[in-house]
Amino acid sequence: MTTIQREYSETISQLRDTIEKLCTEYSGEYWREKDRNREYPTEFVTAVTELGLLAALIPEQYGGSGLTITAGVEILKAIHEFGGNAAACHAQMYTMGTVLQHGNEEQKQRYLPRIASGEIRLQAFAVTEPGAGSDTTSITTTATRDGDVYRINGQKIWTSRAEHSDLMLLLARTTAKDEVKKRSDGLSVFLVDMQSARENGMTIQPIRTMINHSTTQVFFDDVVVPVENLIGDEGKGFKYILSGMNAERILIAGECAGDARWFISKARDYACERHVFGRPIGQNQGIQFPIARAFVQAEAAEAILDKACTIFESGAASCGTYANMAKLLTSEASWAAAEACMQTFGGFAFAEDYDIERKFREARLYLTAPISTNLILSYIGEHELGMPRSY
Ligand SMILES: Cc1cc2nc3c(=O)[nH]c(=O)nc-3n(C[C@H](O)[C@H](O)[C@H](O)COP(=O)(O)OP(=O)(O)OC[C@H]3O[C@@H](n4cnc5c(N)ncnc54)[C@H](O)[C@@H]3O)c2cc1C
Repeated sequence: MTTIQREYSETISQLRDTIEKLCTEYSGEYWREKDRNREYPTEFVTAVTELGLLAALIPEQYGGSGLTITAGVEILKAIHEFGGNAAACHAQMYTMGTVLQHGNEEQKQRYLPRIASGEIRLQAFAVTEPGAGSDTTSITTTATRDGDVYRINGQKIWTSRAEHSDLMLLLARTTAKDEVKKRSDGLSVFLVDMQSARENGMTIQPIRTMINHSTTQVFFDDVVVPVENLIGDEGKGFKYILSGMNAERILIAGECAGDARWFISKARDYACERHVFGRPIGQNQGIQFPIARAFVQAEAAEAILDKACTIFESGAASCGTYANMAKLLTSEASWAAAEACMQTFGGFAFAEDYDIERKFREARLYLTAPISTNLILSYIGEHELGMPRSY
């Protein structure tokens, strides 16, 4: 789509071809209808699962393709670049990483092959709470050991896809905050069987939002989770969640990069086709330059994203800085591209049929979630630049 041609490996070229074809089947009309009715895109998610795309990062020994995070990024990027929306299913790519990296062999054997085959979905990631917000270590949902089980009590908010998932990755406090040395201690991660939990104390309430995101709040009233569903060691969960969040940020940066490409491509085409005052609107620098600037921003952001992938794949102890920078830059580039596209299309940008107003709403999310721009800047200020911690 651009004058700069990226060199794609054969695997990635094939993935992109497959996804382009898929997105032709699930075109704008499909997404518009889902958006209008706030429906989960079950058919698309099933198709993506059947193509094995959501299992790309699961090692071959557990039934996946064993590809790298670069491939994961390219899959999500392509879905967004060709007009789809991976938000309905992207979580599985990074939540399964927590099980893979920190789960025991029995848990990996029990869950990963079934996730890879599509038999079960691990789409729900329950971290955020209404009282704690970005301050994750202040969560108050508790998991109290009671013989062979933990009893979960509390509330999560913004738990997306909870109604469409068989499993939930849950962060809860196992030791009170005032009883631990570091506030990040005493948090633990659990795999919750959603069906069983719904039958014994878990309630899910959908939240209607400006985008079609199937997000919810979840209430836990003495929900029983077997001890064997604890991931890794009790009390070390925050570390596990953080390592998964780096993957999440990199993968979601892929979606933002794809959105930027989609907006730029749409805006460029329309700027060339639409004639007003007897000439293409793209001949006016007021239209041309914002599109060109968004393109520059998007290319630079993708370069940082590539670097984040390389650092992640090298297994370096911390890829936090690059994961965060990639998320910040790609989300800002896609937002700049979204704004340029809106302006280029004039009044038609507001018409549902052009998909721009929908994509515009969807692209805005990434400046706020899964981590807001301010919190990324705080991370860079503190960890990279050695300035005082702001929270
Ligand atoms: C559609 C949607 C889907 C989501 N899906 C999930 C999900 O599946 N699972 C999940 O766990 N969470 C999910 N989230 C939650 C998301 O990660 C949070 O909304 C996000 O992290 C911000 O938290 P908050 O909304 O509580 O904002 P707050 O923490 O209340 O922050 C509000 C504003 O204040 C700023 N702020 C706060 N503290 C500071 C500071 N120290 N310095 C500077 N600025 C600060 C923030 O940057 C933000 O702009 C989702 C959110 C949305 C909207």
